Amino acid sequence: MSSFSRVFFLASIFTGIYIWQCLPSVAVGSQPSAEQPNRDQPANVVIIFADDMGYGDIASWGHPTINTPHLDRMAADGQKWTSFYVAASVCTPSRAGLMTGRLPIRSGMCSNTRRVLFPDSAGGLPPDEVTIAEVLSQRGYATACVGKWHLGHLPQYLPIRQGFDQYFGMPYSNDMDRVASAPPGRQAFLEPRISYWNAPLMRNEEVIERPADQTTLTQRYTEEAIRFIHANRHRPFFLYLAHSLPHVPLFRSSGFVDHSRHGLYGDVIEEIDWSVGEILTTLRELGLAKNTWVVFTSDNGPWLTFQEQGGSAGLLRNGKGSTWEGGMRVPCVMWWPGRIPAGTVIRDMGSTLDILPTATHLAGAELPQDRVLDGYDISPAMFGTGPSPRNQMFFYRGVQIYAVRLGPYKAHFITEEAYGSNTNRQVHETPLLFNVEVDPSEQWNVASTHPKVIDEIRNLMARHRAELQPGEPQLEKRIP
Ligand code: MG
Repeated sequence: MSSFSRVFFLASIFTGIYIWQCLPSVAVGSQPSAEQPNRDQPANVVIIFADDMGYGDIASWGHPTINTPHLDRMAADGQKWTSFYVAASVCTPSRAGLMTGRLPIRSGMCSNTRRVLFPDSAGGLPPDEVTIAEVLSQRGYATACVGKWHLGHLPQYLPIRQGFDQYFGMPYSNDMDRVASAPPGRQAFLEPRISYWNAPLMRNEEVIERPADQTTLTQRYTEEAIRFIHANRHRPFFLYLAHSLPHVPLFRSSGFVDHSRHGLYGDVIEEIDWSVGEILTTLRELGLAKNTWVVFTSDNGPWLTFQEQGGSAGLLRNGKGSTWEGGMRVPCVMWWPGRIPAGTVIRDMGSTLDILPTATHLAGAELPQDRVLDGYDISPAMFGTGPSPRNQMFFYRGVQIYAVRLGPYKAHFITEEAYGSNTNRQVHETPLLFNVEVDPSEQWNVASTHPKVIDEIRNLMARHRAELQPGEPQLEKRIP
């Protein structure tokens, strides 16, 4: 496209969006093509979810040696969210929050004793929870889950029982099912081999490979995702592509060995970056880019106790497992050429909890009415038509509230470090208070000068607790 036609095209998009939003929801008679948004069907939704990738692990988010040209371009053509939170700082509850738009305490998908699901777990996301896939299925979307699920591996909890038409991936973390003959402790992670873990790869309800060849997971997840997009290019679709990596143990395919100056962890991120490029290229080539909302984010912060095999939270404090910013604020890039203004940065709050309500709105579907949701439709912020409706965030660790953010202020009632032998748990009678807009690294406690803010946050927390109905605990159930 010439620069003149690009300018004309951009101008016509903005006018077109306005006109389109004023039209009644009937099919507009134009023929879709590679250059034209297809208004005749609701937007496709693609969520790409990394596992344990930190706030500081992308080049355009400040990493000095990890090379992520595809994510950087996605952000340049799309939008960065710099204050985007997950629902919990570890895999299972974080994913429960994403899938349902509800804090994991409501679905029973969090616990103080077992923080995630394990291969001997008997629980899972309760079937009566409503997932993004179920909401979108009602509008005729094709739905696929590719990658790590971690919301229950028994048949009744698998993706195809939770609204997905198809599933291909590992049902839980890639470090589970460790074999007895593997080297002890951290040694197995330092020089990981496929044979040290007996984790399965599944298609729908069947185990098709065990142990899964983890070196080719990112490649195979990507191929599966692209096949799904091709097969459903003429109807609306929802693709949930949840990479098993960069959760330790770290594996990458032969083409990415010694690819990164950052070593093994960098190789793994660079392969995920390649995968992002493949997905976006496919959407462009099929003429679907202008009708597809793509979100790239991570399930929680970096697993810092794995040192150079874990990622980086950049300027944020601490990492995975903690309610410090590094545990729950994650990189988020949204992309939708022609709808999301290119190269924009949203500094308002957003959350993975907001993806279900936003996708529901974009699809013209109905939100579940019979339950409390913790997410908001953040499309006004995304499209540049208004602020994010999110002004608060609850930071749970297990079933307890550790911290609450209201506006720019975050109060910590309990602090604890990530996983490890000394988690340094402290209860604060007067909470620690940080202005995380001024002080994202949570260094300077301003509690003594802001008693009214603390009162407001205490009131918010009391109201939340008063209406809260915790779900039946799922993570402590074990297979007898
Ligand atoms: Mg994780």
